[in-house]
Amino acid sequence: MIVGIDLGTSNSLVAFINREGKAEIIINERGSRLTPSVVYFKNEQEVMVGELARSQLILKADRTISSIKRQMGTNYQVEIGERGYTPPEISGLILRKLLQYAQEYLEQEITAAVVTVPAYFNDNQRQATLLAGEMAGIKILKLLNEPTAAALAYGVNREKKENILVLDIGGGTFDITLMEYQDEVCQVLCIGGSSQLGGLDFDKQLVKHILETFKMSNGIDLSADPIALQQIHINAEKAKVDLSSVNECSVLVPYITMGTQGPVHLNQTLRREEFNHICSYLFKEISELIEQTFTRAGVSKEWVEAVVLAGGASRMPGFKDLVKQLFPGVELRVEINPDEVVALGAALEGGMLSGELSHIETHDVTGHTLGVEDNQGEFVSLIPANTPYPISESRLFTTVNDFQEEVIIHILQQDELGDAGEGINVSLGKFHLENIQKAKAGEPSIDVTFTIDENGILNVSALDIETGTQKEIQITETGYVDGNKIPARRGRDLIIL
Ligand code: AMP
Repeated sequence: MIVGIDLGTSNSLVAFINREGKAEIIINERGSRLTPSVVYFKNEQEVMVGELARSQLILKADRTISSIKRQMGTNYQVEIGERGYTPPEISGLILRKLLQYAQEYLEQEITAAVVTVPAYFNDNQRQATLLAGEMAGIKILKLLNEPTAAALAYGVNREKKENILVLDIGGGTFDITLMEYQDEVCQVLCIGGSSQLGGLDFDKQLVKHILETFKMSNGIDLSADPIALQQIHINAEKAKVDLSSVNECSVLVPYITMGTQGPVHLNQTLRREEFNHICSYLFKEISELIEQTFTRAGVSKEWVEAVVLAGGASRMPGFKDLVKQLFPGVELRVEINPDEVVALGAALEGGMLSGELSHIETHDVTGHTLGVEDNQGEFVSLIPANTPYPISESRLFTTVNDFQEEVIIHILQQDELGDAGEGINVSLGKFHLENIQKAKAGEPSIDVTFTIDENGILNVSALDIETGTQKEIQITETGYVDGNKIPARRGRDLIIL
């Protein structure tokens, strides 16, 4: 049995293919389908995952970790007591818990899974997810892009050709995917979105508003009180969720602080219109990201025949209204619970890999332009964004100095152009190719090959054609050149041939 896992920012789910050949969500020990992606370290030996951990967020904030998905692929470490934990370690604990649920429910050992990742996840983030699987003791057979999983959940048994737009907005990420579904082939054309925009940003905006309103009416600033802040955060999220089904709700936290006259309560009323107004810049950002993706894909919005919504935050009426406004008259597919659609799609992929279900081909595309840095510090592209993968591309380079003994190959990812028109380069790693042909500048031929496998993982190899010296790496080093997290050293002495 190969299970499907949606390892989400806020919640995670595990699903499998039942006897009828249908994808089904596994219920956890508390009878819930969603397991909060929260980990609480009670002590060195005792770790809790899920709802029990989430209830520690207020009083044991220093030992409780949430939203770790946002840190995947970075050098971030969480310090708990004496020890630092990496994002893959924390995600590994969540995965292990989900596996435990699956094994108990299915009464069999589970050793393999399909795990979903945002389409926009880069190489570092994908590597970190694979590492989390290793730490949980599970073989991740496929990293499936979340929007592709959502399309699979809707698309199985659909015969007719369709142009689909998948909008997947979860706790921390927003993925936009344009795809064509025809003859059992799901072909992604273009992806866009942001790995730093999701439901959490709406919560933060609401927290800011609640703090300001509280300060205005009580003259007390709660922003430096971690326990009060955590309570406001939890209640802000609840209010946001409530406002998806009612027009007005209240945010109530009794005894939130002590004033000069005694205990002070937080009691505010929020209306949906007010929420939409407070978060208007986020809706604007969503709209701009969608427009940008269509511009990049070179198709008009009329191309879309159906919109599939996924991710818990797609339930916000403001989000649905925006989609209807951008795509008037287009069918909105919302029949499958948006919290579950990705996990269900992952289980279907698992069923296809194990041979239980007939195969549907999925072809994904790269989310970022990948290349190397030349001797001038300029970005040289090898694989442009939105290239279907698996793929392999090579380019020849040479030296700039006479009798150079090595070249440093600095692998970069170039993200969307910023407002000023500049590309944002992210360092994915670098390696040295030593013992190259000792010759005059411009004579050696160095072949650099980028290969992206079916999981979206990048492998880079370099070959000095004359001496046969070759080196191959899977990128593991992380850091940002422009953010200067790691020193921005030049891809020294390397120019394009
Ligand atoms: P996911 O990562 O797909 O589990 O989505 C989690 C995000 O969806 C969180 O930010 C939740 O607060 C948000 N969410 C879940 N249900 C709703 C709802 N009914 N209305 C608005 N946001 C929701």
